[in-house]
Amino acid sequence: MFVEVIVDILNSEVDRIFDYEVSTPVVPGTRVLVPFGNRKVEGYVLNIKNETKLEKSKVKSVLSFDDEPVLIPEMLKLIDFLTQNFNLRKMDAIRLFVPAGLRKNKVQTKFETFAVLANENFDVTTLKSTAKNQKNLFDFIKEKNRENIVELNKKFTQNAVKKLVELGVLKLEKQKVIAKSKDYGAKNKDVILTETQKNIANEIVQKPDTYLLFGVTGSGKTEVYMNVIKQILSRNQTAIMLVPEISLTPQVVMHFKAKFGDKIAILHSGLSVRERYDEWFRIYNGDAKVVVGARSAIFAPIKNIGVIVVDEEHDTSYFSESNPRYSTIEVAKFRAKYNNASLVLGSATPDVESFYKAKIGEYQLLEMPERVNKAPMPNFQIVDMLSEIRNGNNSIFSNALVAQLSECLKNKKQAMIYLNRRGYQSSVVCRDCGYVVKCENCDVPLVYHKEDNMLKCHYCDARYHTLLTCPNCASTDLKYGAIGTQKVVEELKKLFPNTKIFRMDNDNTRTKDAHFEILSQFASTPSSILVGTQMIAKGHDFPLVTLVGIVDADMGLHFADFRASERCFSLITQVAGRAGRGEYEGKVVLQTYMPKNNTYRCAVNYDYKNFFKHELNIREVTKFPPFVTILRVLVSGGDEQKVTAKTKEYYDRIKEIKEQNPNSFVYLNAMKCPVKRIQNKFRYQILMRIVQKDYTKIRDLIYNIDRNLKHKDIISFVEVNPQNLS
Ligand code: ADP
Ligand code: ZN
Ligand code: ZN
Repeated sequence: MFVEVIVDILNSEVDRIFDYEVSTPVVPGTRVLVPFGNRKVEGYVLNIKNETKLEKSKVKSVLSFDDEPVLIPEMLKLIDFLTQNFNLRKMDAIRLFVPAGLRKNKVQTKFETFAVLANENFDVTTLKSTAKNQKNLFDFIKEKNRENIVELNKKFTQNAVKKLVELGVLKLEKQKVIAKSKDYGAKNKDVILTETQKNIANEIVQKPDTYLLFGVTGSGKTEVYMNVIKQILSRNQTAIMLVPEISLTPQVVMHFKAKFGDKIAILHSGLSVRERYDEWFRIYNGDAKVVVGARSAIFAPIKNIGVIVVDEEHDTSYFSESNPRYSTIEVAKFRAKYNNASLVLGSATPDVESFYKAKIGEYQLLEMPERVNKAPMPNFQIVDMLSEIRNGNNSIFSNALVAQLSECLKNKKQAMIYLNRRGYQSSVVCRDCGYVVKCENCDVPLVYHKEDNMLKCHYCDARYHTLLTCPNCASTDLKYGAIGTQKVVEELKKLFPNTKIFRMDNDNTRTKDAHFEILSQFASTPSSILVGTQMIAKGHDFPLVTLVGIVDADMGLHFADFRASERCFSLITQVAGRAGRGEYEGKVVLQTYMPKNNTYRCAVNYDYKNFFKHELNIREVTKFPPFVTILRVLVSGGDEQKVTAKTKEYYDRIKEIKEQNPNSFVYLNAMKCPVKRIQNKFRYQILMRIVQKDYTKIRDLIYNIDRNLKHKDIISFVEVNPQNLS
């Protein structure tokens, strides 16, 4: 028999697939060790066949193989899906499926030996009358049937065990040792679902389909997911539950653990290679029936899936933006279809493209417009920071926010202060008078671009020279850059010297447990304040938090990205959702220089649908997704000339396609990337916008070009609707 084997070699631009011979039959998906040049390398059997086109004498033999295939049949199909839709190499796909610890046997499997009763009719009287241990051992094993040999040796002596094995009474068996998943010690809290929750859960369980669960924060989506999973398990099926990595907090993990006990496997970035391998194996051998994890958990080797849940479906972490690039939700759709399972995409602020799909009937829309306990959504107060400055308040905090903070702390409640901190761009503020440099045409703060030392307006693209003095007070103390969390903490300390203030941002949460530490300290300190970046926006449930302050809401709108408003809306909603979750009413103070902006107007009324309508209009007029698909070819490398030459090659080939399909292209252009260089690699891009109905056809043509033009000195790849256009 012959097998087609894909070999696991790094640094190869293309998949290497070869024929080998095997004497014992194997099945596709089996991992093998094969001779490759003068090395031995790992590979995976993709196909089996009786004949090879190669000369028989040239075909080498497989050296060894696993007893069981590591790739389940579904994964073999998923490989094709990933290569076709995301232009991945087959080996990239396999690396997504197989835990790092298994590849090259980095994690050695531990075995335990068990003694099993092999002859229950054994006549004990044939033993020597002095062989007490042997008799006792026989009685013991007759009762128990099997036991770890280490235990038996201890109890009945090594000799006795050996003797009974020799007599054929006991048989030795090896068994893989798989660690049990951690016990987080949480208690299960059973709630009685509301009518709405019940109906929604039942529909999901009974009718396999793709659902968009649109429910405000605190509407009880998580309880719906858990109920669905419970029902699915009782049907002897399994489930995958995906959450953004950032909200995979110990709180959430504990919740699920309490609900599903040992049936659950949890995959998150904090696991060691060994722990991840053990969790993977518990899934593979069927011990774990529910997989909870961040995006990579979608590749868990779980069979017979009944439901896949993607919580916070709008979250950008569901897109893998470095190699291998893929969209988690598209993979989830494939797996749901393969298993005839339901797919549930949940969010309080769905991705505009997802909500559009629900609107045109591609997804089934399920709505939960109210909080479970009928608690009102927190009340927003918009503060115009310009009028604060006009009234002589130059501090980071508006008078309103300070007043609310005092009130909140006086009542022994807690507050969260949120800073928007995506990217590096920031505005220019005078430290003496608080003047903010704005665009002459648009009345919005200008954004400082460090690379070319210019001030730019992200609305009209006007450019301005940087300033040395303040146009308002002539002070030279101009601050270029955003306010940092440390600065906010400093200022808060001046205002509330006796209050405990916690800080959480990228700088102080590098270690695995720092996150948890800060959050649990905050949770147990009434009358305290937590200052943080988007990290504090998601998933946390602190019943004492009654006030949320958003210091620099506008930051989010200053991004030259067609999704800027959408992300700003979503973040504000998420952060606001942290307030008033318990029995106390919540308040949000939103500080802005653009109080009339439509995004804010919708956000403060929790009016997603109006926001969506407005946004969809803009997208239709300006021709952005979901009305077109954006394709981007990114070319980068250390030698700028080679990069531009390669970009031109791509561009010329794409132009030919455009000439043959003139109506498919809305836009085509090649240029330097907004971020021109990263880690000494020059970056160029070709941007295309393709009309929706032609997009797969054009995409496949572009993929084909990419496969032909790849070169080892140059990094190049194609992205579909990239989340980040920098
Ligand atoms: P979401 O995921 O939509 O933000 P959750 O599922 O976390 O909402 O629910 C918010 C809070 O309401 C949680 O504390 C949860 O335990 C509680 N809750 C949800 N459903 C019910 C219910 N039917 N009865 C009582 N409490 C509920
Ligand atoms: Zn000034
Ligand atoms: Zn402008």
